[in-house]
Amino acid sequence: MNERDSEQVAYSLIARGYERVENELEADVVLLNTCSVRDMADQKAIGKMGMLGRVAKERPEVVFGFLGCMAQARGASLLKNLPHVDLIVGTQKFHRVADYVDDALTQKRNRAMDDPRFSIVDVEEERGSQSTINDQQLAPRQASAFVSIMQGCNMHCTFCIVPQTRGAERSRSINEILAEVRALVSHGVKEVTLLGQIVNLYGRHEFPKIDNKSPFAQLLDAVHEVPGLQRLRFTSPHPIGFREDLIAAYRRLPKLVDHLHLPVQSGSNTILKAMHRTYTAEKYVDLIRRVREARPGISITTDIIVGFPGETADDYKQTRDLVNKVQFDNAFIFRYSPRRDTPAAEMAEQIDESIKEARNHDLLEVVDASAIRINQPLIGQTLEVLCEGPSKTNPSRLMGRTRTNKIVLFQGGEELIGELVDVRIERATGFSLYGTPVHSSVATIAA
Ligand code: SF4
Repeated sequence: MNERDSEQVAYSLIARGYERVENELEADVVLLNTCSVRDMADQKAIGKMGMLGRVAKERPEVVFGFLGCMAQARGASLLKNLPHVDLIVGTQKFHRVADYVDDALTQKRNRAMDDPRFSIVDVEEERGSQSTINDQQLAPRQASAFVSIMQGCNMHCTFCIVPQTRGAERSRSINEILAEVRALVSHGVKEVTLLGQIVNLYGRHEFPKIDNKSPFAQLLDAVHEVPGLQRLRFTSPHPIGFREDLIAAYRRLPKLVDHLHLPVQSGSNTILKAMHRTYTAEKYVDLIRRVREARPGISITTDIIVGFPGETADDYKQTRDLVNKVQFDNAFIFRYSPRRDTPAAEMAEQIDESIKEARNHDLLEVVDASAIRINQPLIGQTLEVLCEGPSKTNPSRLMGRTRTNKIVLFQGGEELIGELVDVRIERATGFSLYGTPVHSSVATIAA
């Protein structure tokens, strides 16, 4: 979601004639779009801005700003130790950033050196802000794009700061979203990912159910019909509100990809309750069973927190058992990290870091084993891969994703970027697949 918000801000600046530069030292405007979900992310952003203070001394005309969740949560207090910061813009104000940057540059140019500092802080709520994330600057041959369909979350999981930084649930209309998807597809985009904090609860406050279909199921149906769109993804859903109409979408919508990322967080009902995740481990497992029945071969990934306050060895074992039972294609495992201003941070029985570390390490091994078990049989198969571009780790090879969201690395020419390519898989690890495009004379790559 932050990536999508950053794209929106970049678009709005480019539309006014600003240009991207490769290096912050060459920039006249440096904006850090911040994440607050873990304390480490906050610290990283503050550390980075602190380092940029040196540039501010050498080039006082440069505009510096914090955007996004940390700006929202900390507001003007960020100015105290970082006096060179000019802009602090919250999560409902991304569409105002270009105006604020213009103002800040003008102020700086016109200001005498002995003027008091000026800064713009805007972290207010704004009605309709969910509909302002609707433009992006596409790269040449861009295959895949994010589409923000809603903002905010009403769930209040006890470990999470998002409802405070992103506000209450607010959704865009189906027509607005369709217009954006059509525009993306007309520019060559083949895959869209619908984004929301709890994407399956899209529109529940604004739009009615029709024929027993939730607004989200209606949206999937509508986006699916956009001519030229090849793949439809969404992230992230919540087990709550994941009903039969959404499961049925996997039966009736072939463009809906063979992948579901469904955060479970814990396999212990005691911990789920303490997290304020209002489902049980049994319900989660049954939900996955029904999704797999509706779409055989679908890949399932998840998020898990280990070391939540009060997590006993037995609670952890229940998480481990669930992971073994479900056999995830992959999982993001997080050590619980206290966030200030969240209920879990105040809970007694915080878990020792060494225990969190051991559980994290152990669970990673379980997840890796199932990922490898699932990926090995793919060797020898030919899979449809949407080529996104050069691999970030080794730009001499291309990277793409299967319909099951697995990363595939292969060699090929630039003409494959943005295209659906059949790739014969020759090697598999838990994280990546390696192969060769079919009907291509390129050599097999070494991993
Ligand atoms: S569902 Fe829970 S974890 Fe997800 S954004 Fe909302 S409060 Fe945070």
